[in-house]
Amino acid sequence: MVDHNSRTGARLDRARLTREQFSALRRMLEPVLATNAFYRDKLAAAGVSRPEDIASLEDLRRLPFTTRRELTEDQAAHPPHGSLLTFPLERYTRLHRTSGTTGLPLRWLDTAESWQWLVDSWACGYDAAGVGAEDGVFLAFSFGPFIGLWCAFEAARRVGAMAMPGGGLSTEQRARLMADNRATVLVSTPTYALHLADVARANGIPAMDSVRVTIHGGEPGASVPATKRRIADAWGATCFDHAGATEVGSWGFECAELSGLHINESEFIAEVLDTASGEPAAEGELVLTNLGRVGMPLIRYRTGDHVRLASDPCTCGRTYVRLDGGVTGRVDDAMVIRGTVVFPAALENAIRSVPQVTEYAVDVDRRGTLDELRVRIERAEDGGGAPAAVAESIRRATGLRAEVTACAVGVLPRYELKSRRVRDHRNTPI
Ligand SMILES: [Zn+2]
Repeated sequence: MVDHNSRTGARLDRARLTREQFSALRRMLEPVLATNAFYRDKLAAAGVSRPEDIASLEDLRRLPFTTRRELTEDQAAHPPHGSLLTFPLERYTRLHRTSGTTGLPLRWLDTAESWQWLVDSWACGYDAAGVGAEDGVFLAFSFGPFIGLWCAFEAARRVGAMAMPGGGLSTEQRARLMADNRATVLVSTPTYALHLADVARANGIPAMDSVRVTIHGGEPGASVPATKRRIADAWGATCFDHAGATEVGSWGFECAELSGLHINESEFIAEVLDTASGEPAAEGELVLTNLGRVGMPLIRYRTGDHVRLASDPCTCGRTYVRLDGGVTGRVDDAMVIRGTVVFPAALENAIRSVPQVTEYAVDVDRRGTLDELRVRIERAEDGGGAPAAVAESIRRATGLRAEVTACAVGVLPRYELKSRRVRDHRNTPI
């Protein structure tokens, strides 16, 4: 809560930004150390009992990490909500839940103040994409317990735009609603943006005509260059990436320079750690401390996101750090195939670079002692040479030989949330 709406904080010089971050952290630690059982005990074990003990990044680095597994275990040990609550239950006004794709679902509670912080953080993404009062924002999600779309929905109101919920509708109905109401902004997963455009086009619905901006979360695709280009072409719009997670909040957005994700450092302290050594590095796992979600905070949370810091400041003038290529994968999604480390996003970029590919699925298997990379693609009618082109594109990007086959259009699954196009069927952990 350095600057409550983060709009001026983005341009502070780095020294001032750091000072503001740590005073926000100390403000948050005051109630947390007093009444948050989870962190009071965890930080006491690290020798921290007073907020003033944490004045710098060096102090912060002495604190233990918080992991997803700890959170899951805590909620199992203290059902249903765990011991990470700073306030009595009656202070909380919202409950959301993770999708459970990476483990047991986590429940996450927010007070009214924490919720406002989440919404304000999300609104930074709209600001950076130039979305405001003239815009109609269509949210192509079913409105379930997943938190991101609720934040995006309320953040639209926060920037004065008109929010249009897209729950309970078929894809065709969504396209019609967008066209009929002249939506100018689409918020969806990257995968679903492509599917929605396909369906609109196939049914002659001019949903794209009024759209000028698309913003994507839930999956990393909008920072994968080939996917980003494809979304921008399909919608005739500027495609922005956005990043966040239920448990930590909306931490990253893309500015109009489209040069990677900015981390919202007014509301988060970010560290990037080498996955092997745990030491600070330019590339590795993103570790976040949120500064305004006092009701259920996270300190040094290992996000599991693999990222790469950009070395130069962004030309937009924001002093926030930037991640080249956004979230380049999940740390535990890294696969070793025939001795080569491969992230699903790298395969996505290679496959989607072939324009005829409309959808794809990747299976990694082991036959005998040899790893096999098999790719199925759906292709446009003029896509006769697509399998060979995809194999060549993968070879160029990763050095790996892939067996690529074409299948009928509509055979492969479509996803609204959390696509799983890459499946590793080998049992051996890396
Ligand atoms: Zn920028």
